[in-house]
Amino acid sequence: MTATLYVIATPIGNIEDLSPRARAALASVDFVLAEDTRRTGLLLKELGIKRELLSYYDHNERERTPQIVELLKQGKSAALVSDGGTPTISDPGYRIINACYEAKIKVSPVPGPAALIAALSISGLPTDRFIFEGFLPPKGNRRIDRIKRILESDCTSVLYESTHKIARLLLEITELDPNRELVIARELTKSFEEILRGSAKELGEVAKRPGGLKGEMVVLVRAAAEKPKKKSYGKSEEE
Ligand code: SAM
Repeated sequence: MTATLYVIATPIGNIEDLSPRARAALASVDFVLAEDTRRTGLLLKELGIKRELLSYYDHNERERTPQIVELLKQGKSAALVSDGGTPTISDPGYRIINACYEAKIKVSPVPGPAALIAALSISGLPTDRFIFEGFLPPKGNRRIDRIKRILESDCTSVLYESTHKIARLLLEITELDPNRELVIARELTKSFEEILRGSAKELGEVAKRPGGLKGEMVVLVRAAAEKPKKKSYGKSEEE
């Protein structure tokens, strides 16, 4: 087999979403680069696949990359997976991908689940144009400035948010624009999947329910309403 790095999407909750091609690719490679070897080990075990696992995550990407490129140069093939969804989407991986291109090693995608696309697909918001914001800065002016920019955006915005910051995010949006329409796609493809739609203020109230909003979630923000055209007093629109 020619040296190849397969970038393989894995389920975001429901194992049935793993594609037959992803399963075959995982079974065919020499080793698997995993964000969390324990978690990927469990997935492989469930699939009945035995493969060498190498950890590849944010804090060892730099030192690991040359070692992996060396293995690939020897003609080995590898799979890059994350804890769930598509690698490199708010997940590690772009360094090894770039290093492969530089070393003329083939990189090939095995597409599949990605939380942002699953959430967009059921949001009911316009998806002809959207912007993926990933995770917001955790605090401070950078966070608030980003939220302000999102609220000014002329297309749907998609954000990843964690359980412990969702109530705060809803409060921050409510303070700036309480009526802005949001969708929260929670625990997609899992037993407690829930799609919440409403204004920032309404969903802020939902987040206050006992237990709050738990699990993994994607937040979608409707584009800013188009500003009405300025009236030109005493002049025609064409002037
Ligand atoms: N690479 C992944 C992808 O393709 O979606 C995303 C990884 S990122 C570290 C994890 C974030 O994705 C979570 O905090 C959450 O915002 C979102 N996410 C992952 N799985 C999800 C699910 N089943 N339902 C809703 N959101 C999910």
